[in-house]
Amino acid sequence: MDQNKRNKILDFLDQQYPNVGCELWYRKDYELLIAVLLSAQTTDQSVNKVTPILFKKFPRLEDLANAPIRSIENTIQSIGLFHTKAKHIKALAATLIKNYQGKVPSDKSQLISLPGVGVKTANVIRSELFNIPEIAVDTHVFRLAWRLGISKKSDSVEVTEKKLRKYFPQDRYIKLHHQLIHFGRYACQARKPNCVGCRLQTICKEPNKNLEKPLINRG
Ligand code: SF4
Repeated sequence: MDQNKRNKILDFLDQQYPNVGCELWYRKDYELLIAVLLSAQTTDQSVNKVTPILFKKFPRLEDLANAPIRSIENTIQSIGLFHTKAKHIKALAATLIKNYQGKVPSDKSQLISLPGVGVKTANVIRSELFNIPEIAVDTHVFRLAWRLGISKKSDSVEVTEKKLRKYFPQDRYIKLHHQLIHFGRYACQARKPNCVGCRLQTICKEPNKNLEKPLINRG
């Protein structure tokens, strides 16, 4: 492992994003779980617009478990995949009440067994609610990992997570996850990254992707 490169990445992220955290709005453990579930293939801002309304309309887990699917759908219909997500929310609420006394479990296999919860969501919950060192690989983290040469573009999400865990020290996982998401969301975007002045250009696999290509001289 190239320790200089690793330190360069960590120093850069610390300078750019010294105090970053979860951008999803929540007050209770299950509210975060539902917010993360809703955030699949949509932005945190879109989720933050509907969750206060959803949790006001259904203030307890029991209310969500007993709600007609159509009523949940109506509340979250501005979010992509809302039919499936409404079903998952209702089933999730019922499962938490039935099997976990209404509390969100910290165990990874228990989390993954919940309706609509995959490895990424489980990792977010474990790090955000329980302070357990995890790196959740979302679309931004996945892209950054290969752009920075830590993984390959062809790697699966699981392999990317393994490589990130091996590459960075465990006590940095939680902060690093938030920093990579912020960098990917606000600077190193998929299509138009803001490469001008980026101090990771020398290690990046796709530097200046967004700069206009010089015109070919056809004369
Ligand atoms: S040079 Fe551009 S693509 Fe590479 S890490 Fe920096 S912002 Fe991202």
